[in-house]
Amino acid sequence: MANFMETVKVNDLVTTWVEEHAADLIKWSTDIWNYAELGLEEYQSSKLLAEQLAKAGFTIEMGVADMPTAFVASWGTGKPVIGILGEYDALPGLSQKLVPEKKPIIPEGSGHGCGHNIYGVAAAGGAIAAKEWLEKEGIPGTIKFYGCPAEETLVGKVFMAREGIFDDADICLTWHPGSVNTIWSSSSLAMNSVKFNFYGKSSHAAANPEAGRSALKAVQLMDIGVNFLREHLIDPIRIHSTITNGGGGPNVVPDKAQIWYYIRAPHRSEVEETYDKLINIAKGAALMTGTEYDIDFITGCYEMLPNKILGEVLLNNMKKVGAPDFDQQDMKLAKELTDSFDPGMKELVVKTSGASSKLIEQLLHEEVVEPFDEGKSMSGSTDVADVSWNVPTAQFTTACAPIGTPGHSWQNVVAVGSSIGQKGMLSAAKILGLSVVELMLDADLITKANEEFINEIKQKGEYISPLPEDLKPPVPVKVKEMK
Ligand SMILES: [Zn+2]
Ligand SMILES: [Zn+2]
Repeated sequence: MANFMETVKVNDLVTTWVEEHAADLIKWSTDIWNYAELGLEEYQSSKLLAEQLAKAGFTIEMGVADMPTAFVASWGTGKPVIGILGEYDALPGLSQKLVPEKKPIIPEGSGHGCGHNIYGVAAAGGAIAAKEWLEKEGIPGTIKFYGCPAEETLVGKVFMAREGIFDDADICLTWHPGSVNTIWSSSSLAMNSVKFNFYGKSSHAAANPEAGRSALKAVQLMDIGVNFLREHLIDPIRIHSTITNGGGGPNVVPDKAQIWYYIRAPHRSEVEETYDKLINIAKGAALMTGTEYDIDFITGCYEMLPNKILGEVLLNNMKKVGAPDFDQQDMKLAKELTDSFDPGMKELVVKTSGASSKLIEQLLHEEVVEPFDEGKSMSGSTDVADVSWNVPTAQFTTACAPIGTPGHSWQNVVAVGSSIGQKGMLSAAKILGLSVVELMLDADLITKANEEFINEIKQKGEYISPLPEDLKPPVPVKVKEMK
């Protein structure tokens, strides 16, 4: 429960703006929840946010970095330049009605299983709220809202970083919907997403197998090679795959086959080394089967460098704003959603996050806690990491779903479409807005954040885009033609 006196203390223009515009922000997030557009297809979602930012006086540059749904919204003049990152893409197969049982709106349709509907809106709301205050006070400085598409496929920010979109920002702030109110202090796994294509020769599998060269056998041998490699890799490295083309009928030797790998590791250099090993295995598989291969490099990303100075700014403002104020109705929904989890799931999610096991007894998180993941690496990847290698970056989470809600689940879609997620979103908008204001007023904090960043880059090496120079963002052709 938010402390009343603390709420009054920070009840300045930023928090008032968010409170007065709560109905608008909720409407925007509901619209984006309903659009549920997949990565690089977020035409309505990006348009909604860009239009609202434009209405508030921001200048919009649409379609940056060769992605029609990526944009930059800027307001103000001169230094410092403070960036806020926003996301708005949905996930396939997670279409879900706002009911506490699994019921899709559209079978196999998409849904906001990661809460990016409230992610983008809180970020835009925070940017507008901070702008209102700067404008009124006549404080110089620039706010930039970065509209980042396709986070789920780790595409948007990596391609934007390659184009230098974040280069003029002094710092970047962001958040992510979660189930606890705290700073996100952990790193994340660096990653490559790569498809290996094998090309053989088809023949009748019974009549003339000797004339055929099986591309599928090459895929199978490659996967066996990769599985033998695992023993010789450090433990946190994760390699997972799907066979995206295994040929047609068993009576035709397949002349084409494809396997898609995600290679993840705590450091970018370890991803690169492991990737080189996979290329050697592909060469071996091709040699063994008399086939040829090539590679579709889909995307790659770095590991997150969380900036501690900025993390402290976010945490202080988070304490001022307080946890979202949930009511009986929120608790009822949280209980229904929690009851639908698989046995042991809540315990597993809390344990994996590193949070206190005491949280398991609670339904919704109603306090702000110190970070519990410092020095750790979360077992997933995010393209926010690629921003963090270019400009000092920090992020936080607010409670937008019941404690222990699995990520990318239908329960999460319900939570972030309901008042639980909406309350977490309004808190996040206030925290972002207040943090922008604090940093605009304290040049010293920005200098310190940059010193920390420069030190870290000195130790770890400069950012080199993981993407091949000539690689274009994978904008779906069908969508491009339609719009
Ligand atoms: Zn996600
Ligand atoms: Zn996400």
